[in-house]
Amino acid sequence: MNEVLIVGEDICQQVVGQGDAFAAVEAVFAAMHRGEARNFPVVREALGHAEALYGFKSGFDRAGHVLGVKSGGYWPGNIERGLTNHQSTVFLFDPDTGQLSALVGGNYLTAVRTAASSAVSIAYLARKDAKVLGMVGAGHQSTFQLRAAAAQRAFEKVVAWNPHPEMLPRLAAVAEELGLDFEAVSPQELGAQADVIITITSAYEPLLLADWIRPGTHLACMGTDTKGKMEVDPTLLARATVFTDEVAQSVTIGEAQHAVAQGLVRADDVTPIGAVINGSHPGRAQDADITLFDGTGVGLQDLAVASVAVQLASQHGLAVRAAL
Ligand code: NAD
Repeated sequence: MNEVLIVGEDICQQVVGQGDAFAAVEAVFAAMHRGEARNFPVVREALGHAEALYGFKSGFDRAGHVLGVKSGGYWPGNIERGLTNHQSTVFLFDPDTGQLSALVGGNYLTAVRTAASSAVSIAYLARKDAKVLGMVGAGHQSTFQLRAAAAQRAFEKVVAWNPHPEMLPRLAAVAEELGLDFEAVSPQELGAQADVIITITSAYEPLLLADWIRPGTHLACMGTDTKGKMEVDPTLLARATVFTDEVAQSVTIGEAQHAVAQGLVRADDVTPIGAVINGSHPGRAQDADITLFDGTGVGLQDLAVASVAVQLASQHGLAVRAAL
């Protein structure tokens, strides 16, 4: 008999905190750079039904002994049903036998692992004296991003802009909860004030122009995870030192895809953040540098946080056991 542990969405939210996700994502980025963890090719297809995009992200982390796949995608009609548009489930397998070991709800974990990714970039690349956090985007992911970023520096203020301004109050409420001043600003003003900028939108054209970004800024561009999407002016990538979770994704489906296609940046110019975590790249060289993290989202992040969810749920006696 094969025993499978089931960890639902509610339990994931209960047991996996921001700090747990940060540690798991930081460790797996480091393992990827050491060649001990590998993402497999992503499958993402339009179903031709319910306007849905469906796919798989999978990989194997030899260092963490984690093998699995996240399956799911995007169902735009879900909002009308009272459901989240992004739906996913993580399947973990025993790397020694291939037997299914756990089924884990992937919706909360996707948000928390994506926020952990930009938080890791801020921890390693932003100036230590950063005071103003700029948020571009105010959708589902944005509040997770704001909370995780706020833990990385002694921020005093949040400046925010969103193409749909009516969505900004959700960010204002989180900023207030975190004890941070909040100001809704134009994108130019955001660039003029912010020391760290997170972009987390579904944009297909630049929302921030290169000239609006001050020297010394760190940007975490988190929204572009598909061919064609774009959040910032490609010339900004030529001006910045560019980092990413995985170079292969960055130059094909990430923010760097456009700068690479236009010949402004080469794949060799993009550094995996794991190199900075492992100490083989210095990261930010000078205070006046612009650093840009292209967070494309890799399957190993999902598997890492799902594995933590299983461990913590088991420890607390909250995982449901089923025979398969
Ligand atoms: P959401 O639907 O809740 O919010 C969408 C956001 O994008 C809002 O701020 C909205 O105002 C803005 N927006 C919508 N259409 C736009 C357009 N045409 N131009 C500019 N802005 C537009 O989505 P979400 O769950 O918050 O996700 C935001 C983005 O992050 C999506 O593109 C999603 O695919 C991406 N994402 C990336 C990762 C990763 O690992 N990098 C993980 C999860 C989500």
